[in-house]
Amino acid sequence: MRIGVLGDIHGNLEALTAVVDRMKAEERIDLWVQVGDIVGYGADPMPCIDLVRELGCVVSIGNHDAAVVDRLDTEYFNAYAKAAIEWTRENLDREYLEYLDQLPLFVEDNEAQFTVVHGSMHMPEQFGYVISTVEAVDSMRKQRTPIAFVGHSHVPAAYMQREGSPVEDLEFIFRSEIQGDIRGYSKVLVNVGSVGQPRDEDRRAAYCVYDNETQELAIRRVEYDIEAAQRKILAAGLPQVLAERLALGV
Ligand code: ZN
Repeated sequence: MRIGVLGDIHGNLEALTAVVDRMKAEERIDLWVQVGDIVGYGADPMPCIDLVRELGCVVSIGNHDAAVVDRLDTEYFNAYAKAAIEWTRENLDREYLEYLDQLPLFVEDNEAQFTVVHGSMHMPEQFGYVISTVEAVDSMRKQRTPIAFVGHSHVPAAYMQREGSPVEDLEFIFRSEIQGDIRGYSKVLVNVGSVGQPRDEDRRAAYCVYDNETQELAIRRVEYDIEAAQRKILAAGLPQVLAERLALGV
């Protein structure tokens, strides 16, 4: 089964459409997964939720999604994120708020053998970041499937525990694009990167594909119409910096 994973869409419809079109054309996806933060920052939260639902994605809630529906305090968000969360709340129809409100913190799919969580399996309700092996180890201790998909940092990465090795001896890959197989590893944690607001200085939208039979794992990047997404952010009255950062990939 080929699993297609979308991370941190953040209301960027141009990026999401470009990624989904590419995946439909080239990746033969059997099952779609979304690691959370469908909304926040971008100007098209409702069309992005529509597309995620159309694809039948298995979804875990992101910290922005949770803040929009008051499941998370906004006190730890910076001013731009807070402004975007308020804008998003005001621009979502009730059924979209209800959809976000019922999303789970994490999903363990025992049939397809994967876990999806926005930040970390270590206290998922706290939305901690996995940005190094230290946090990856904490999350992987709680991981009960061979592979887990996370997002939140908007930076692609893979952490791998070799068969027979202790979890503390993780191997890792930090690259904007990843291509290989994970045979020989008992447990893997993948940060799938961000569709709608990449922060690894590569402005192209990211997506992940995993084949649970061949164990091939890839993170690929797609160009999209950044200027169109920027124009919508500015027209919506969202903070200008949210438009500018898209062009920089930060
Ligand atoms: Zn995010």
